[in-house]
Amino acid sequence: MAADPERVGDTRVEKASLASLLEKTLYSESLDCVHCGLCLTSCPTYRATGRETASPRGRVYLMRGLAEGRLEETELLEEEAFACLGCRACETACPSGVRYGEMLENTRAAIRFSRRGLNFATRIERLALRQIVPRAGRLRLMVVLLSLLQALGLDHLGARILPRRLADMLKLLPTIPPMAKRRRMPPHTSAIGERKGRVALFEGCVMPEFFGRVNEATRLVLSRAGYEVIVPQSQGCCGALQAHSGDLAFARNLAERNLGAFGGEVGELDAIIVTSAGCSAALREIENWVGEAGASVAAGVRDVLEFLDEADVELGLRPIAKRICYDDPCHLIHAQGIADAPRRLLEAIPDLELVAHRNPESCCGAAGIYNLTQPEMSKRVLSPKLDALVDANPEIVATANPGCALQLAAGLAERGFAASIVHPIELLEEASRP
Ligand code: SF4
Ligand code: SF4
Repeated sequence: MAADPERVGDTRVEKASLASLLEKTLYSESLDCVHCGLCLTSCPTYRATGRETASPRGRVYLMRGLAEGRLEETELLEEEAFACLGCRACETACPSGVRYGEMLENTRAAIRFSRRGLNFATRIERLALRQIVPRAGRLRLMVVLLSLLQALGLDHLGARILPRRLADMLKLLPTIPPMAKRRRMPPHTSAIGERKGRVALFEGCVMPEFFGRVNEATRLVLSRAGYEVIVPQSQGCCGALQAHSGDLAFARNLAERNLGAFGGEVGELDAIIVTSAGCSAALREIENWVGEAGASVAAGVRDVLEFLDEADVELGLRPIAKRICYDDPCHLIHAQGIADAPRRLLEAIPDLELVAHRNPESCCGAAGIYNLTQPEMSKRVLSPKLDALVDANPEIVATANPGCALQLAAGLAERGFAASIVHPIELLEEASRP
């Protein structure tokens, strides 16, 4: 694969690092796959298509072909690498410990690096992921413009008259919260009652704008549980979306910024608390991008539900008499192995009836920005989950990742099913409210 020099300058990926990516990382990791096929049925794209090349085993085979330089035509690999959800259900199923998520990011980076010029869709994606998402001021401005659009009802008009793909994007947009709910967290919150420790809160990039209520609930619950909460002001976007899209160089820059924000203080902290499963998975694997320098930060990262469950905190919970389904975000269950903690916390709320639905562990199709880049497959993947949720008939659906929350909300609304979509920490906050 010949590299485009312009793109090399753009991504700051050097030829040597591409060679190392392919030969040392991708090739050696692909050897772990013994072609047993135990991952096939766990893969949503394989289940949807029945194609071997759309399965984890098929994709690993293609990746190995790329690393060995045997792949003469790379179009099929390019197509399958970007049609993969990156949900990592195959990692959970794999008995050989294939690190599929990391291989996928490396493959996408190699593909992006080798392309001669970027197509229009990739340019837009890169612009959004480099110039808007990680830049708080620009993101805020965009959200303000979107809220104006909604206030004037132009989003409904757009959904009717725009081409289908753009209309689908508008439907995924949640109601923008009022400005008061989009404030950044205060840098310091004292512990209430007996002091148990000190934690740092990772805010994320999109979370404060669309899910500020989740960060606020987290801050309040931690403080009620006896933890002093600090919010390092120099923190930024975790880089997960950029890495998933193959822009590893930019993800590394973002990771280094967070090392500076959390690294120096991590020794004095009990944990770095994260409220979005995609972000906690990325920060836990920060060493993949920055090497050993990220070890102490990675070791301190805890998803808020995992932390509260481990800490076994006493919150004096009051009843919430509702029927609820919990749906596992892939980056919590498959990337971090966290499935029981959220359920245990929800079960601790008196009168909250936690009902299982039959498809909690399969991807919802959001997968970062997959629902924007691959809308058809995203809907096919989402459909069985919606069937299961509608059959279970909950009043509340809880999930712990912002992308999943938006995807489930849009899908259930399209089916005319009225359920509120919340993060479990919001229910804990409500139940522990003084
Ligand atoms: S990450 Fe998900 S979609 Fe991709 S190969 Fe693995 S199971 Fe299939
Ligand atoms: S389960 Fe693991 S070892 Fe078996 S085919 Fe899938 S990726 Fe390869």
